[in-house]
Amino acid sequence: MAWKTLDDMDFAGKRALVRVDINVPVEKGEVTDTTRIERIVQTVHDIQDKGGQVILMAHFGRPKGKVVPEMSLEIIAPTVADILGVPVTWANSDFADAVAEMEDDEVLLLENLRFNPGEESNDMGFAKRLASLGDIYVNDAFSAAHRAHASTEAIAHLLPSCAGRLMAEELGALEKALGDPERPVVAVVGGAKVSTKLDLLGNLVGKVDHLVIGGGMANTFLAAQGISVGKSLCEHDLADTARDILAKADAAGCEIILPRDIVVARQFAPGAENETLAQDACPEDAMILDAGPATVAYIGEVFEAAKTLVWNGPLGAFEIFPFDAATNAAALKAAELSKAGRLISVAGGGDTVAALNQAGAAADFTYISTAGGAFLEWMEGKTLPGVAALG
Ligand code: ADP
Ligand code: MG
Repeated sequence: MAWKTLDDMDFAGKRALVRVDINVPVEKGEVTDTTRIERIVQTVHDIQDKGGQVILMAHFGRPKGKVVPEMSLEIIAPTVADILGVPVTWANSDFADAVAEMEDDEVLLLENLRFNPGEESNDMGFAKRLASLGDIYVNDAFSAAHRAHASTEAIAHLLPSCAGRLMAEELGALEKALGDPERPVVAVVGGAKVSTKLDLLGNLVGKVDHLVIGGGMANTFLAAQGISVGKSLCEHDLADTARDILAKADAAGCEIILPRDIVVARQFAPGAENETLAQDACPEDAMILDAGPATVAYIGEVFEAAKTLVWNGPLGAFEIFPFDAATNAAALKAAELSKAGRLISVAGGGDTVAALNQAGAAADFTYISTAGGAFLEWMEGKTLPGVAALG
């Protein structure tokens, strides 16, 4: 899939409509985490350096097509100005007038697009109104690309379009990991439930050489093979589905790696008394909360021989000590290999990013996606409408 970048466009004397994700957390009127704003700086500055004017389009919260004052982007505008280091004017509703009054170095921030029902319904009329404000469309919001909205999809059909720096970086990293990866490729999929990750598993078994299944969802696979999992989190009704996935993997030559040893406890609580047992030795009154050291050692061997790793979902209940052990150890192994240039590692997912940060491994991964839903849909092999529209 080919998309243009900022380098392919001539911004001199032009207005760029730039879709960004600055949906930052706010408490008592203060932005508590500015990461998402920091990540748009490069794109804004590059367009300005090329002689273009920047109009930012964004959403904030879920106002569902109505004006909700607490979700006004006016709250965020001063922080955006601070971080960009240029004047930022917030445009309430009369966008065209605000654009007409723009100074050269000034950035215009349009009010929360989701105040208009046309945004989420991908309404062509609303997209045309937005498109009339500028000359070039830039999408820098990968994390919103799985939604076909007026500012992520329809508008791309109305103006010359390209990916911003962040979008291009994200797409490049993802393409390297699953598009045309260096083999062997290993995927780690963990987390709570199989039911939320069926499409993910189905896509991966056809693409990767080794698939590590961990976390609560591994229990469903163990149970589907007749192994007792006691009181563990387990979706017994998905036994057939789990067996289908195992058969599909077998046919595709994908090695499925399940916990070989398990860490069990009787309470889901920090520091709960626990023991490490063989895969098939979970007592009837206990829960499997993590993979054991033999599993981690084997995963480490697979990582050693692999060239590419994609990771979504922790291997155990990583929020509570000591059931973060397998996740931490595997994450540090991947980080070490990545740092040594031996492994391309890409990870994403809300809890996954938290777990890799907690392990102290995130900084050495090749790429960490903070895109959440869009990252998952990409791992599922789905076409993201916001990316497709750029092609
Ligand atoms: P992500 O947000 O990265 O996509 P998930 O939400 O799918 O990840 O999974 C994270 C959750 O899975 C965590 O809350 C974790 O406690 C839970 N989990 C992992 N292993 C187990 C387990 N063995 N038993 C119960 N819950 C588990
Ligand atoms: Mg989660």
